[in-house]
Amino acid sequence: MSVLVVGTTALDSIKTPKRENPRLLGGSASHAAIASSFFSPTKLMGVVGGDFPAKYIALYKKHDVCTGGLEHVKAGKTFHWSGEYEVNMNNRRTIETVLGVIEHWQPSVPVEYETTPYVLLANIAPQIQNHVLDQMARPKFVVADTMDLWLNIALEEVLRLLKRIDCLVLNDSEARQLTEEDNTVAALPKIHKMGPRYVIIKKGEHGSILSSPKGLFVAPAYPLRKVVDPTGAGDSFVGGMMGFLASQRTGSVDRNLRRAIIHGAVVASFCCEGFGVAVTTKTTRAQIAARVRELEKVAGF
Ligand code: AMP
Repeated sequence: MSVLVVGTTALDSIKTPKRENPRLLGGSASHAAIASSFFSPTKLMGVVGGDFPAKYIALYKKHDVCTGGLEHVKAGKTFHWSGEYEVNMNNRRTIETVLGVIEHWQPSVPVEYETTPYVLLANIAPQIQNHVLDQMARPKFVVADTMDLWLNIALEEVLRLLKRIDCLVLNDSEARQLTEEDNTVAALPKIHKMGPRYVIIKKGEHGSILSSPKGLFVAPAYPLRKVVDPTGAGDSFVGGMMGFLASQRTGSVDRNLRRAIIHGAVVASFCCEGFGVAVTTKTTRAQIAARVRELEKVAGF
C-alpha cells in the first residue's frame, strides 16, 4: 500500500569536523520519502522555492517518489537549515534556519492523495501536520514525528495532534520534555494517555524502544564503525519504518511494526555513512536485506 509523506523539503548546509557541504538535498520529508520508497510506493508533500535545483527533483524521481504534491513557489526561497557537528558526531548545533517558503505554506492535499492509507507526518510545524490530517479521508495508520522546538513553541498544537494519530516517534530527550518525566520507560504510559496507541522512542546510536498494547520491544541500531553525517538519520528511520509497514499484507500491527523498526534502523545506518542522502540514494534492497540479517544475528539470544 502507498505512503504519503509530508514534511520539510530543504537545502541543508552541513559542517562536520572533517568537511563542509553546502546546500545538499535535505529536509525531514526528503529523507523520509526516499527511505520509504525502498519498500512501498511513496508520495511526497512539501514546498520549495525557485532556488531548488532540478537535480534534486531528479533524485526523488530516481526513487519513484511521486512529486505531484511538491509545490514550487518560484519567487521564494527553499527552507534552508545549517548545522555543525562536534567531533563525536552526536552533538550538533543549529547555526541557522531560514524558513523561506515554508513560513506561509498552507498545504493543500491533492485529490489523488486524499485516500492514501499510510500517512507519515514527518517533522514540521504541528499546525501543518494537523492541517494535512484534516484533509485526509480516514487513513489506516498515521505516524507523526516531532522535535523539541514544537514542544517549546506550539505545545497545544502538538497535544491536539497526539489525539489524532496512531503512532508518535520522538527522541528520548523530547519524551522527557513532553512528560516532565526523567525516566524514559516511565514516560511511555504518560504519552499513551495523550493519544497514540504506539510510541517509539529513538535513542540514536543506542537504538529505539517501541511501546504498544502488546508491551515493549527494544530494538538495536545497526552498529556502525564510522559515521560521516547523521543528519536525517531520524527521518530515514521513520520513513523506512513506515514504508516497510505499508508493504506488509498480513500479520498484526505489533509484529509488523517490530520488523519495520529494524528496517528503519538499517536505512538510517546507510544515511549516516554519507553526507545528506548521498549514500541512501545509492543503497540497494539487497544491501538493506543483508544488514537486516546481520541485525537479527547481533540482537538474537
Ligand atoms: P534529523 O537529523 O533526523 O533530526 O533531521 C534533520 C533534517 O531536519 C535536516 O535535513 C533539516 O533540513 C530538517 N530540519 C531542520 N530543522 C527543522 C525544523 N525546524 N523543522 C523541520 N525540519 C527541520
